Amino acid sequence: MELIAVYPGSFDPITFGHLDIITRSSALFAEVIVAVVRNPQKTPLFTLEERVEQIKEVVAHLPNVRVDSFTGLTVNYAQMQGARVLIRGLRAVSDFELELQMAHINKTLAKDIETVFLTTKTEYSFLSSSVVKEIARLGGAIDHLVPPSIVAALECRYGNKSVKISD
Ligand code: ADP
Repeated sequence: MELIAVYPGSFDPITFGHLDIITRSSALFAEVIVAVVRNPQKTPLFTLEERVEQIKEVVAHLPNVRVDSFTGLTVNYAQMQGARVLIRGLRAVSDFELELQMAHINKTLAKDIETVFLTTKTEYSFLSSSVVKEIARLGGAIDHLVPPSIVAALECRYGNKSVKISD
């Protein structure tokens, strides 16, 4: 069966942790839709449109990955796309409780949709979009945490050049 999977999230901004989950998912499923959630309760650093463009750029080399955005319930969006799978990344036990609750709730809303958890690569288990934003805001090195285009976007947003550690 050709399975379509949706990977939903805020991606504010996308990190190497997200990218690792996307790359590994793209090897497992026929199509992966990276779906940026419009959440009116959160105030993101980058607009929805900016985040979609940022992700498109960094997944351009993966032919079966598509980038989209949506509002409302993730399971409704997944069903509209003909997807049977929701992908979520697990970093530490701290992620588990909320993710488990969401998976159960989503199952009550849509029986035909399965949540698949991929565990993070060890080196990204500490990595989150919030941590990246905080380091960037304070002018620290982030080039080992996010792709170069995101380093540039964050430098531009915070108006400072971050230190580089990779050269
Ligand atoms: P949300 O607001 O839905 O948590 P995020 O953009 O923070 O959106 O995360 C989207 C998904 O990516 C979540 O399943 C999250 O656990 C996962 N994720 C975030 N950071 C990492 C990482 N460093 N490694 C693996 N998965 C991650």
